[in-house]
Amino acid sequence: MNLFACPACGEPAISSRDKFRLGPMRAVRCRYCRARVSVAALPSLILLALATLAFPFGFIAGFWLCQSSGSLPLSIFGGLVGFIALPLLFRLAHLRLVPLVVREG
Ligand SMILES: [Zn+2]
Repeated sequence: MNLFACPACGEPAISSRDKFRLGPMRAVRCRYCRARVSVAALPSLILLALATLAFPFGFIAGFWLCQSSGSLPLSIFGGLVGFIALPLLFRLAHLRLVPLVVREG
């Protein structure tokens, strides 16, 4: 599995699943040094805001792409795919771009 290095001890302690669930208000403990590890607040919040905006935008984009087919069910399906896929992209961006930090206390 893909592991991220702990910002306190440098050991590969944080799984991508752990990081997936992390937000600025959530922390996990490093299994090596017991440091509380979280994500950098500002990049995380910016991505969260963008992802929230992406929800309706993804639906509209998917709907539009399939609308040329002239089939309403297909358009709605395309909208749902966009609705799911776009925020997923932001989750992946979160995983790759937002740095891990040590949270005090
Ligand atoms: Zn550690």
